[in-house]
Amino acid sequence: VNCYADLAQTVLARCDTLAAYSEAPGKITRPFPSEAMHGVHERLRRWMEAAGLAVRRDAIGNLIGHYHPADAASSASIFLIGSHLDSVPDAGRYDGVLGVLLGLAALEALRGKRLPFPVEIIGFCEEEGIRFSTPFLGSLALAGRIDLRLLERTDREGTSLAEALRRFGLDPERVGEAAYPADCVRGYLEVHIEQGPVLENRNLPLGIVEAVAGQDRVWLRLQGKAGHAGTLPMELRRDALAAAAELVLAVEEYARSVEGLRATVGWLEVAPGAVNVVPGAVRLSLDVRHANDDLRRRATAAFLAQAEMLARRRGVEVCQERSESYPAVPADRQLTELLARAADQARQPFLRMISGAGHDAAIMAGLTPMCMLFVRSPGGISHHPDEAVLPADVAVALEVVVAFLQGLASGDLA
Ligand SMILES: [Zn+2]
Repeated sequence: VNCYADLAQTVLARCDTLAAYSEAPGKITRPFPSEAMHGVHERLRRWMEAAGLAVRRDAIGNLIGHYHPADAASSASIFLIGSHLDSVPDAGRYDGVLGVLLGLAALEALRGKRLPFPVEIIGFCEEEGIRFSTPFLGSLALAGRIDLRLLERTDREGTSLAEALRRFGLDPERVGEAAYPADCVRGYLEVHIEQGPVLENRNLPLGIVEAVAGQDRVWLRLQGKAGHAGTLPMELRRDALAAAAELVLAVEEYARSVEGLRATVGWLEVAPGAVNVVPGAVRLSLDVRHANDDLRRRATAAFLAQAEMLARRRGVEVCQERSESYPAVPADRQLTELLARAADQARQPFLRMISGAGHDAAIMAGLTPMCMLFVRSPGGISHHPDEAVLPADVAVALEVVVAFLQGLASGDLA
């Protein structure tokens, strides 16, 4: 029996409580800004205050609880533990929320004992990028990297982010004030559900993240020529969809041949899109991820070359409509090793792994050394109401985070 089991139950019960704050009845849908987020803040604030944290809401809408150090006059830099409080539509109850509540529970496990440095629990206001189609607003603002032009961005109803922040009770003019100076923080830890099946397949409760994978997103247009499905002979066709199909399979085959590479055509639009018309044009997206930026760039270049080649053979033209690139973000080696020693101390085996999903931690790495702990996702399910965690895994993660904080307190860095 793990002595953190009771506290883990509290964490799970709190996840249930916060799941009730939603914009959609019967579902968990919590965009930012929203009324539902106000409710989450109110609840979380009460739990944080009861645990002896001083709570404030920053200029972008992150909720931050400050756990003062043993020596209240100390100017020691702050250690941050956080994750996000928003959700995708019809979400599960653990993505994001678990990391915030687990951080809080780790401080509660100290039973009033203070550390030589302050700790802050951060509930980021926005990570999923749902309402304004742009992710990481909370961590970008805190890391001092938010592009203020985003304030003009509008949601589906035409409300700007600036106006939405105002209605939420914030002053958009002051968003810049959410930024932390790098010298006032010493590091960042994020606990998050894995959102994938790897830990479950290995029968392990925990993963320690070595890097967040880099990502290329490319939008292509394959231009052929539409024609009558009955009268146009096969050898005279310039079928854009047949070319796209060939590309999709080539991408899959290449990605399967490179260790750690993930490549996906997740969206495809066929024009004119009729049962009796040879497809004249296809637009498609390509998502390429790897922890190694060189390998990723090489793969993306190979896919584009492949597209050109197979399209040419079919008399189809390829044009790149848009692309985005995000480099891989390595976790901090010292913090990661401290986390590994904490897991050893708790006698818990873990897997060193790459995060294929983006996280606030990748943004925070631009501000301060970052590390990440994954908790097994039963069934690998996430962004779905069936998302789950095992209570025993939560207890183990909690034990590891407490040991990690104690290691940090005793200056136990490699
Ligand atoms: Zn998340």
